[in-house]
Amino acid sequence: MNFSRFISRVSAARKESPIRETTRIKLQNPEVISLAGGYPNPAMFPFQSAEIKTRDGLKVQFNEEDMKTALQYSASQGNRAPDLLKWVKKLHVKYHNPPIMKNEENEGFAACVSCGSQDGLIKVFEMLVNPGDNVLLDDPCYSGTLAMVKPMDCNLIPVTTDHHGLQPNSLLSVLEKWKPESSHDPKSDIPRVLYTIPNCGNPTGATQTLERKKEIYAIAQKYDLVIVEDDPYFFLQFNVSETPSPSYQAIDVDGRVIRCDSMSKVMSSGLRIGWISGAYPFIQRLILHQQASILHTSTFVQMTISRLLDQWGLEGFENHTKNVQKFYKERRDAMIKYATKWLTGLAEWAEPEGGMFLWIKLIGVDDTTLLIKKKALEKKVLLLPGSAFGVVEGTSSSFCRVSYSFATDEEMDEVSRLFVCSIVVKST
Ligand code: PMP
Repeated sequence: MNFSRFISRVSAARKESPIRETTRIKLQNPEVISLAGGYPNPAMFPFQSAEIKTRDGLKVQFNEEDMKTALQYSASQGNRAPDLLKWVKKLHVKYHNPPIMKNEENEGFAACVSCGSQDGLIKVFEMLVNPGDNVLLDDPCYSGTLAMVKPMDCNLIPVTTDHHGLQPNSLLSVLEKWKPESSHDPKSDIPRVLYTIPNCGNPTGATQTLERKKEIYAIAQKYDLVIVEDDPYFFLQFNVSETPSPSYQAIDVDGRVIRCDSMSKVMSSGLRIGWISGAYPFIQRLILHQQASILHTSTFVQMTISRLLDQWGLEGFENHTKNVQKFYKERRDAMIKYATKWLTGLAEWAEPEGGMFLWIKLIGVDDTTLLIKKKALEKKVLLLPGSAFGVVEGTSSSFCRVSYSFATDEEMDEVSRLFVCSIVVKST
């Protein structure tokens, strides 16, 4: 792959920070006496030790010596010792077995820890997109992604999705106006980036089949696209007893997939830990961004997570994610039960195979925006209208997004009943 073809002007201009470079040198050569870095002296930090108990009776402990590391600046790519990056790699070997791991060292697999996948994504888009570029996205699309790319002054091209996510035919028909060879012409406006959520989509709950992923990957090869695989719900797929369907990264032989992962849905959303992974020439640019922006994700938080993973091992982590899947599967079943009880005949939906969202289509309603923002709210029901997720602003939508992650059975029952009242009020 010609990686430089994908790098935006802003990203190409990034250089290694001289200060961060000294941090790396010191970490690699502990015997060096450094007067280079502006390290605060940990003797002046008020925190001495820490102990965090887990629900399953384990303890993540930090003694005075550990705290000196945990509270200090650390590498921009992610902690090396104790090593969250080592865990990231282990998880990828287990769940994705990325073919690019077998590539030459300088084009092979790499990862960079981020403050959740949101932070990872905005850095990825900054790396890939110049003003005026054509960018392909799932439509409807995660509103958090729209919020980051819309101000980038690029042209967002919607690609239709259904209950199995992005449609390969729709992608092909969007790309039809360009010749695949145009990807060799630096002056061509052929899209270079495709953003998609492969599993348990937000807002649709849709999960792409492996066949679909293969078709879309083949189109990406033909038109030389980079696929931004936003997969924070990967561990929330409800196929508890089977292994999850292979990701785009798992079928990526070229290094054209950049994956954003997150611990938000399985460990904690407030700890803000995720990671970006893919071919080294991309990840290297993202590390430079990290050096210039947040410096690194919290050392303490990274250590907390890697120490818990050390105690759990892969098996313990898997037991935990299975519990999480079971929990959300029960929530989904409950939501569908109450939606069926109250909304049958008024609305339709496809059963999500994972995640937190039910994407409900109101029959005979062209646009749910006013209904949800006014009538439903008057009945004390708060939902999101489909229009909030339209790639093209102002597009009407018959859908609404219902999140089933938090509500109790009683609340789901009541909310569905009240929602029906607002629909009925609207139509009379
Ligand atoms: N991508 C998608 C599709 C999401 O739904 C979310 C969370 N709402 C994010 C990214 C961001 O998640 P986080 O930054 O917490 O990992």
